[in-house]
Amino acid sequence: MSDSSPLPASDWPTLEPGWVWLCGAGPGDPGLLTLHALNALRQADVVVYDALVNEDILSWAPQATLEYAGKRGGKPSAKQRDISLRLVELARAGKRVLRLKGGDPFVFGRGGEEAQTLVQHGIPLRIIPGISAGIGGLAYAGIPVTHRDVNQSVVFVTGHDQTGNTPQAVNWQALAQGAQVLVIYMGMKHAGRIAAELMAAGRPAQEPCAVVCQATTPAQTVLETTLGHLERDITANALQPPAILCVGRAVLLRQVLDWQGMIAGQPARNLDPLNRGRPAELP
Ligand code: SAH
Repeated sequence: MSDSSPLPASDWPTLEPGWVWLCGAGPGDPGLLTLHALNALRQADVVVYDALVNEDILSWAPQATLEYAGKRGGKPSAKQRDISLRLVELARAGKRVLRLKGGDPFVFGRGGEEAQTLVQHGIPLRIIPGISAGIGGLAYAGIPVTHRDVNQSVVFVTGHDQTGNTPQAVNWQALAQGAQVLVIYMGMKHAGRIAAELMAAGRPAQEPCAVVCQATTPAQTVLETTLGHLERDITANALQPPAILCVGRAVLLRQVLDWQGMIAGQPARNLDPLNRGRPAELP
């Protein structure tokens, strides 16, 4: 698609001067951007973007000034309050401001905090959801976050809190007992501790786990392992963030649903990984 090709006919909103649109850019693959996001990129005077936003996407706003406001765990980065106040400043200067964040802005993205600051300062805003890495990233790995034969619920949880520690507010024991499938964001640093907490609360060491790094990008890698071997295998394979961890039997479905592997010519490994003794949808 060229930069100037029109959006499909619809009543697309106008990004007015003095407004901030807080927008998700999806997990990486530019094709996972929403049309609202593209509409915003076409109109913005300034795009304030995060570390996880794909550069190809930024090139779709050639008229805009690009401002990096990245925050990555452990690295020196802009303070959240400064980013929020910068958005206020740009809006007050009459700019059409696009705040572009990886995945979905309201999923572990501090988008709620930025939006609050904007509202508190009287700045008009629009929220544009995006595909979150915990859903879209796992889909690209061939792991459905829900499946009728596996789970009726899924928990999205962060492995970091504001201080960089495993979050005190998370009751891992309760999650171990209640969460059929766990999707863990920012879990790499404390993967060993998280796995230990889950096993101490009764999850089996053999429980399937996956680590999806740089999901939906050309550099995507997927590790299949078990809870007991999670930390060892992350270290042995020198895996680096960003990564989504998935804990639960949903991971087994990758044996039949690794569609990217199939596109690359590898046949499905196992047509019935849950041992149902029947194809999924037949009686
Ligand atoms: N708002 C984002 C999440 C931001 S928190 C969203 O909805 O996806 C940052 C964490 O998201 C990373 O540490 C990682 O756990 C996850 N993440 C984001 N993009 C990812 C990607 N392309 N591949 C794997 N994990 C990703």
